[in-house]
Amino acid sequence: ERIELDKVIEKVIKTFTTAYEREIYFHSEGGEVIVDGNNDQLEQILYILLDNAIKYSEAEIDVKLRRQNDSVVLRVSDKGQGISRADQKHIFDRFYRVDKARTRTTGGTGLGLSIAQAIAELHGGKLSVHSEIGKGATFTLTLPIVL
Ligand code: ATP
Repeated sequence: ERIELDKVIEKVIKTFTTAYEREIYFHSEGGEVIVDGNNDQLEQILYILLDNAIKYSEAEIDVKLRRQNDSVVLRVSDKGQGISRADQKHIFDRFYRVDKARTRTTGGTGLGLSIAQAIAELHGGKLSVHSEIGKGATFTLTLPIVL
């Protein structure tokens, strides 16, 4: 399936801004960004990353899309609590949650990121994290570009 990633992102952000009344900024280099993949699965990655950003932060969220060589790079950044180096090694594991006790209040199964990473890999891409405790987290999705 030929996917206009910029359009998919705009649609998902609209859904989230309406549902959660949170500020989510989208910055794109402009122009169409086409990838080859499954629309529902790519939407799901965005749902997982934005859902986490909303759950684990309180300020605005930034989404950036740009082309880099033969890839498209999507970044979702928040200014929340961040993730320690030690935890960064495990957050893509199934059922891993940093604060187990929070399960009751914040909800979540610890499956989200493992699913997002699996989808990224199915599309020939990858998902990584950069974070500093207290400063927030940035998740980077890299996918091969078609056009
Ligand atoms: P769900 O499966 O519903 O998404 P979850 O959020 O617990 O539940 P993951 O999305 O896999 O599961 O995330 C794993 C863990 O990584 C989370 O429990 C949380 O501790 C940490 N985490 C994920 N995203 C962020 C973020 N943006 N800021 C801080 N911590 C995060």
